[in-house]
Amino acid sequence: LETKLFLKQHEIQVTTDEAVPSLMLNFTQTPFQEKIVKTLSQAFQTPTPIQSVGWPLALSGRDVVGISKTGSGKTLSFILPAIQHILSQERPSTYRGPNVLVVAPTRELSVQISQEATLYLGKVGLRSSTLFGGASKSLQVRELRSNPHLIIGTPGRILDHLRDGSLSLKNISFMVLDEADRMLEMGFEQQIRQLFQSIRPDRQVLYWSATWPKKVQNLANEFIVNPVSVQVGDNE
Ligand code: ADP
Ligand code: MG
Repeated sequence: LETKLFLKQHEIQVTTDEAVPSLMLNFTQTPFQEKIVKTLSQAFQTPTPIQSVGWPLALSGRDVVGISKTGSGKTLSFILPAIQHILSQERPSTYRGPNVLVVAPTRELSVQISQEATLYLGKVGLRSSTLFGGASKSLQVRELRSNPHLIIGTPGRILDHLRDGSLSLKNISFMVLDEADRMLEMGFEQQIRQLFQSIRPDRQVLYWSATWPKKVQNLANEFIVNPVSVQVGDNE
């Protein structure tokens, strides 16, 4: 079922077999923590279209495919629902491992996501760990010992830590693939499969991409269940 919406002159196409939840057109309409809403309001005027549509969809617990051009605010469209997911988990007295895994194709992108995430995680007392190649493993291991809630990184180094036993993904119930199109272009398909085999079977999965070629759709279909897809068109 396809629904077409228009927001700030962007054509938004939502494909879902369920009702489209209400858009979040301003920060105070979101269920995010007060400190997060305040931080957002100080930085920006309104949510971007992919955030207005992506937040309610991601918060509904369904698997989501989100397509929107570079620079449209995709990072916050998955990081804030990820934070909400972590906060909604029952907190056992003993640490069982991180809840959220964000996979990105490059070191630069991982660092960028991590920088943006840290600002919001810090407001609600959560921690993240960023794992990428070409950097000291032992420093990353030390970071992992501080019991992070969220892991951000490139597939190779995440799998490295998994094999070494310095990281467990058994408690991951929310996984994000950022720049899924580039991830496939760079040949990470097999590694992504391995990651999917290591996380919880009852996870929620989100794919974010600037483009959505057939190859990415095929990979996505292997691992996501009845996703809702949202595509934000250009207004140029
Ligand atoms: P994408 O992942 O789609 O390429 P980013 O998430 O990297 O885009 O965001 C691009 C820039 O827009 C960043 O500097 C980010 O801080 C900023 N940004 C995020 N949300 C908003 C917003 N609601 N309004 C204005 N700028 C925003
Ligand atoms: Mg991005």
